[in-house]
Amino acid sequence: MSGDSVEPLVTAVQPLGTGTIIGLEIHCQLNTRSKLFCGCSTDYRDDPPNTHVCPICLGLPGALPRVNRAVIEYALRVAKALHCEVPLESEFARKNYFYPDLNKAFQITQYDRPLAVRGTLLIEGDNGEKEVGITRVHVEEDPGRLVHKGGTDRPKYSLVDYNRAGIPLIEIVTDPDLRSPKEARRFLHKIRATLEYLGVFDSEKEGSLRVDANVSIQGGERVEVKNITSYKGVEKALTFEVTRQRGVIRRGQRVTRETRHFVEARGVTTSSRSKEEEQDYRYFPEPDLRPMRVRDWSDAIVLPELPDARRTRFITQYGCSPEHARTLTGELRIAEFFEQVADPGAPATATWVADTLIGELNYREMSVSSVPSSYFRELMQALSKGEVTDHCAVEVLRSLLDQLHAKGTCESPLACVARLGLGKAGEEIAATVAAEVICENERAVADYHSGKNEAFNFLIGQVMRKTKGRADPAALNRALKEALDMRGE
Ligand code: ADP
Ligand code: MG
Ligand code: ZN
Repeated sequence: MSGDSVEPLVTAVQPLGTGTIIGLEIHCQLNTRSKLFCGCSTDYRDDPPNTHVCPICLGLPGALPRVNRAVIEYALRVAKALHCEVPLESEFARKNYFYPDLNKAFQITQYDRPLAVRGTLLIEGDNGEKEVGITRVHVEEDPGRLVHKGGTDRPKYSLVDYNRAGIPLIEIVTDPDLRSPKEARRFLHKIRATLEYLGVFDSEKEGSLRVDANVSIQGGERVEVKNITSYKGVEKALTFEVTRQRGVIRRGQRVTRETRHFVEARGVTTSSRSKEEEQDYRYFPEPDLRPMRVRDWSDAIVLPELPDARRTRFITQYGCSPEHARTLTGELRIAEFFEQVADPGAPATATWVADTLIGELNYREMSVSSVPSSYFRELMQALSKGEVTDHCAVEVLRSLLDQLHAKGTCESPLACVARLGLGKAGEEIAATVAAEVICENERAVADYHSGKNEAFNFLIGQVMRKTKGRADPAALNRALKEALDMRGE
């Protein structure tokens, strides 16, 4: 036979492993005021293309980069929060490749001498809390942005916007410690919260986070999925990829090592051009920048309160349940909002924010930052003073959120209560309605007095119907009982 061998249908080389192995490479834009190597403003999102540029970030001949101190400070905060080691010396490197969004034809990044290495982050894993290893944290510049005109699939032409060129990024690389798409999502949420608590990152800015996910099934080759730009996307892309790889293995084929592209709209990954090999980038130390010695600087940094510490504090200070405390501290904006509206004497507020408000916000794809905390507090006060029932408070909240969603402003909760007639009926109304119902249902009243408990349920049902759920059930119960017992005497 010739040397060409036929692939056997079933290969024993790759056992049908159950273990999913995932490692992430996460790029986050740091929210410093100016870019990494020049003084251009990073606040470019609402501005016309190519208005936040200068000879340095355009890479014009002769222009020299200078490191923005704030970027290093921010990156060191991240490194410290992730319990990383900071080597005595780190260094920028040139990564050479051609693409129209990379005007210099090289990206200034870090290669074999990153800012920080060997850290950990604690997450809620599939089997309880677990530490995920952080391989490295390094600093690099964002390339420009291509704008494809006439659809991304078959654009007529593409435009290039260099406003993003030189925006500072950190890349966080994890060890292959994640074991499911869900764990990957949890890790990302925890990283996002940590970075926001550090004041170095704003997750609400479009495109501020990009993730490449490496995934393999135990014993198999790994695939790198690029172009994941949303938190939900990471779990979706990984779930698709794990299913695809398991299918390949089940059919007795081998997973090949490749780079795939996540197509968010379809929720699938597709095979893309084979990846440049490491040597193609011809990395070398950046000749225009000196190596950095920042270990002492890092030692001097004092970190703010981070999510885990805040979670513990919420439990002791506000009496939150552990689950509520986790939800409330999982996003900086939510945590801050909660502290603005929380009242240690009214633990129900935690439930209102963690369950009701977050649910209603997610349903409308709104951020908590669009909700005036003073209004929410007013609503909580009306509740605790007994001016509205739980049922009515939900209706008020929904109405206010709909208004905020539609026009960015809303009436006050009390105005809403008045307009919708949602005010608590109060003892007086409850008494009136109870008297009416008693008059109209003599049979049931007689049954009640002869000891039939179902009669009471029937009567309370009638009362509820008359008040359309707008009166406090406890008050109605009390009023009805009182009225019945008075007649029975
Ligand atoms: P490269 O330099 O080729 O990108 P690295 O060793 O730096 O490779 O790893 C990149 C990412 O791949 C890391 O996040 C790492 O955790 C992940 N990774 C490494 N091995 C595996 C594996 N067997 N399965 C899934 N992910 C992996
Ligand atoms: Mg890589
Ligand atoms: Zn510039």
